[in-house]
Amino acid sequence: MTATRPEGLPELLRHYVGGARTESASGEVFDVLEPSTNEVYIKCASGGAADIDAAVAAARTAFDDGPWPHLMPRERARVLYAIADAVEARHDHLAERESFDSGLPIRQARGQAKRAAENFRFFADLIVAQIDDAFRMPGRQVNYVNRKPKGVAGLITPWNTPFMQESWKLAPALASGCTVVLKPAEFTPLSAELWVEIMEEAGLPEGVFNMVHGFGESAGDALVKHEGVDLISFTGETTTGQLIFANCAPTMKAMSMELGGKSPAIIFADADIDAALDSTLFGVYSLNGERCTASSRLLVQREIYDDFVARYAERAKKIKVGPPSDPETEIAALVHPTHYARVMDYVEIGKSEARLVAGGDRPAHLPEGNYLNATVFADVPADARIFQEEIFGPVVAITPFDTTEEALELANNVKYGLAAYVWTSDLTKAHTVAHRIESGMVWINSHNVRDLRTPFGGVKGSGLGQEGGYRSLEFYSVQQAIHITLGDVHTTRFGATGYTDNDPGLGGPGA
Ligand code: NAD
Repeated sequence: MTATRPEGLPELLRHYVGGARTESASGEVFDVLEPSTNEVYIKCASGGAADIDAAVAAARTAFDDGPWPHLMPRERARVLYAIADAVEARHDHLAERESFDSGLPIRQARGQAKRAAENFRFFADLIVAQIDDAFRMPGRQVNYVNRKPKGVAGLITPWNTPFMQESWKLAPALASGCTVVLKPAEFTPLSAELWVEIMEEAGLPEGVFNMVHGFGESAGDALVKHEGVDLISFTGETTTGQLIFANCAPTMKAMSMELGGKSPAIIFADADIDAALDSTLFGVYSLNGERCTASSRLLVQREIYDDFVARYAERAKKIKVGPPSDPETEIAALVHPTHYARVMDYVEIGKSEARLVAGGDRPAHLPEGNYLNATVFADVPADARIFQEEIFGPVVAITPFDTTEEALELANNVKYGLAAYVWTSDLTKAHTVAHRIESGMVWINSHNVRDLRTPFGGVKGSGLGQEGGYRSLEFYSVQQAIHITLGDVHTTRFGATGYTDNDPGLGGPGA
């Protein structure tokens, strides 16, 4: 089925540097595909080192000479609120573009504008209410924290829910007073185009927001290695994160990394099975399974295992796979043929490692495009590749366990540690198991919903540092400690009187 191209698209998606839309210095462009047909529907400027240089220079000038880093929190918050309003005003437009470009089912794309807008409102509120520490040593010293924006922020984002992911970095970076260079994912550059008009409409000063499109190996790499960039906030695959980590080292950049996951859902026999079924089905098949916190490994207690697997497979078989634009579609097209081929390879690997109980093939009514039926593997051994490796598609691995210890061993025995889900009606067990899971986040009897104030991030191979709430602001700011003497200056007078008792510099009070 041919998708309808959204109206009003330009011929070429361009960079945005210092308040102007620009083409690549090299003139290079790349093709952008529409995932339900894999036809090229637009060209996008392909940035390289020269474009990154220009964008970093614009961001640096806006940081060093512009008003943005020095505005009162309330003034910055007003602009962030205006950005949020401008995002929300494009609700339908955004959903349509996001769905068309990334293959997200339209109904799931519709929530993205609200979530993105909330990110801006949330960080606007946070900077206005922010409190920094001050300490006094009576009669001697006052110490306080002078919070400053860290500088030019390099933001590198993935293709799953791209606009929302971009907002998750843009909002705290701008709230903190940083200027930014955004490098959106090359598979899904379309919705990022909206930031240009949104930032202009909201009155963000020129040069504060810059964007360079292009591939990770060229535009992304140049941004990571640039001397003029003070920090990199990255979301993407673990292997990319490892490379970026190494590439940040020579210039000693601050880094925040949100990486891949292979999150377990542990379902005990005493759980509310209906609720666990609904939640784990939604957890792995919503957003086409292209969700970092997907519950992609289900660990199910032996007493309920056979029944659970049968019910899960039955529901999975009924999931509606269809075009992204159809409001009834539950799973649509995976983002790109390269990614689709990778997911299909895992499906073939899974067939040799475990028992296929649903899906594993392309829906007969969708002969072209990146479609896969909701796929369920049961009896998956712990050393199977489909148990250990992130697939990032509509594929789930189900494994039985007998004891709590065994469940924990299975849950923790992977390189990732992003999210986990625990289903049980035993309160004590819920908490003790949650505490022993090696992951940055655990949901108990719940699917993936969270208060924006809570920490977000992974441990082990799933990330470095945590964002969420004030933690995001910490990452984008420097907390400079200022110490002022009160009264007389107490300094040991080398070359004069020599040492004095109670010298603060030598371990006396206040050392
Ligand atoms: P990816 O690592 O391939 O690419 C992410 C971004 O990095 C893209 O913009 C890409 O161009 C850029 N990039 C690639 N190589 C680079 C390099 N050498 N230097 C600089 N930039 C480079 O990831 P993806 O396939 O776009 O996204 C899917 C992955 O993201 C999955 O592993 C998923 O779990 C993860 N993810 C994690 C979270 C989280 O919060 N933990 C959220 C969403 C997605």
